[in-house]
Amino acid sequence: MNSEFLKKLQDISGDSSLITGSSVKERKAGIWIDEPIGASAIVRPKNTKEVSQILALCNESKVEVVTHGGLTGLSQGAIANKNQLALSTELMTDIEEIDLYGRTMTTQSGVKLQTIQEVSEQNNMFFPLDLGARGSCSIGGNASTNAGGNKVIRYGMTRELILGLEAVLADGTIISSMNKMLKNNTGYDLKQLFIGSEGTLGIITKLVLRLKEKPSSENTALIACDSFEKVKKLLKHFDSGLAGSVTAFEVMWKEFYTLVTTAPAKSKPPIRQDYPYYILVEYSGFDQKIDSAHFNSLLEDGLEKDLISDAVIAKNTKERTDLWGIRDDVEQQFRLGPIKIFDVSLPINDMEAYLENSKKLFAEKWKEFHFVVFGHLADGNLHIIAGVNQDDKDSMNQIENCVYEPLRDINGSVSAEHGIGLEKLPYLNISRNEEEINLMRTLKKSLDPNNILNPGKIFN
Ligand SMILES: Cc1cc2nc3c(=O)[nH]c(=O)nc-3n(C[C@H](O)[C@H](O)[C@H](O)COP(=O)(O)OP(=O)(O)OC[C@H]3O[C@@H](n4cnc5c(N)ncnc54)[C@H](O)[C@@H]3O)c2cc1C
Repeated sequence: MNSEFLKKLQDISGDSSLITGSSVKERKAGIWIDEPIGASAIVRPKNTKEVSQILALCNESKVEVVTHGGLTGLSQGAIANKNQLALSTELMTDIEEIDLYGRTMTTQSGVKLQTIQEVSEQNNMFFPLDLGARGSCSIGGNASTNAGGNKVIRYGMTRELILGLEAVLADGTIISSMNKMLKNNTGYDLKQLFIGSEGTLGIITKLVLRLKEKPSSENTALIACDSFEKVKKLLKHFDSGLAGSVTAFEVMWKEFYTLVTTAPAKSKPPIRQDYPYYILVEYSGFDQKIDSAHFNSLLEDGLEKDLISDAVIAKNTKERTDLWGIRDDVEQQFRLGPIKIFDVSLPINDMEAYLENSKKLFAEKWKEFHFVVFGHLADGNLHIIAGVNQDDKDSMNQIENCVYEPLRDINGSVSAEHGIGLEKLPYLNISRNEEEINLMRTLKKSLDPNNILNPGKIFN
């Protein structure tokens, strides 16, 4: 990146918005990555116009651009190399409008998810997207990865929560698709191109988010269960008993529960640690008294039917937060030594056999290994933390094969919610066929002919 190019960037974004030289290396490449950002410079535009001017310049100069949101992504989608420019949305933090009747929030893409949740709440509304990285991730990053999280069973993925967006194409063209209506069938729904495409087709600068009315009751319980068959039956039990309104159904296998409820983890086990499965189930409704009575009756019924071995119910917000604190304390995974974190998707009916099969492949290769499972089970989404006490490339590749290959025969997905990035690129063909990948390439080529936007991510 020569000085003439940097000077032009500075002219667009202003002195303080451009970071160069050793200051770039002071920033970490990702929340769980111990290396500095690899890009040669970081530019921090303040608005769409600046993003457009920057991309026009990069396109003309054939400089590759990697967009940075909150850098909490877990698939190496935001990794940049020394010839690339990082474009951070961290200064694009305006919330422009809240429409309480239309139930929308219009915002720039650098706003943190937690801020969006809090501002919604202050307006007595609710933005349902929720994930452990809420305090650091940006809404633009959530859109670009089509993030999932804890409440997908009730409210859907990020895709379902976006009505409109504005994105800048590689040549600087601004596509303003700021639709605010629920219904708008006027040709191609262009916003979908940018949702989940990990910054490879355009840079998202603004969004129209879909707000929901704020629930007025929260009902949360932690349940222990003694077989996977009963876990499945309990999901049906709650979902049908609540007429399809279960808000969360998170399952922790014994090894995960033990890890996050044993010191030095912050939480103590509210239920004994020797059950095979633990479920965090939640229902949010309209009246605390009525909803609690109904939720508790479903729990009692589950006990009577022998679906539940033990349970604790959160009696107040603190107890609810404490129960979620157990599920969210995923950083305990680093106590296991070198690990790889997986995010797979598969039909619930195939889960037990798939996990057994995958674990068997580990046992054939290694005497000792970690295989710790938890996840958004109701969405068919499991996270697997796997490790064999070695972090060389060959061991990691073998670990990946043991987890990914068994998905092939059951039409599973190598990425439920984290995206492909660089990390899962070699395995894309397990979940997508050749024709699909070719169409993705065609789209990429037509929108970004010089291949400057996050090149080499998702596919080569
Ligand atoms: C503790 C923890 C818990 C998590 N839980 C979940 C979970 O439950 N569900 C889930 O889905 N994910 C989860 N994640 C992963 C991560 O938080 C999400 O992928 C999140 O959406 C990434 O947002 P970000 O702003 O940090 O994006 P980044 O990491 O900065 O970027 C992610 C990708 O999006 C691109 N990008 C970022 N902003 C833009 C933009 N404005 N325009 C175009 N491209 C852009 C980047 O180039 C990159 O490819 C978790 C992560 C952590 C650390």
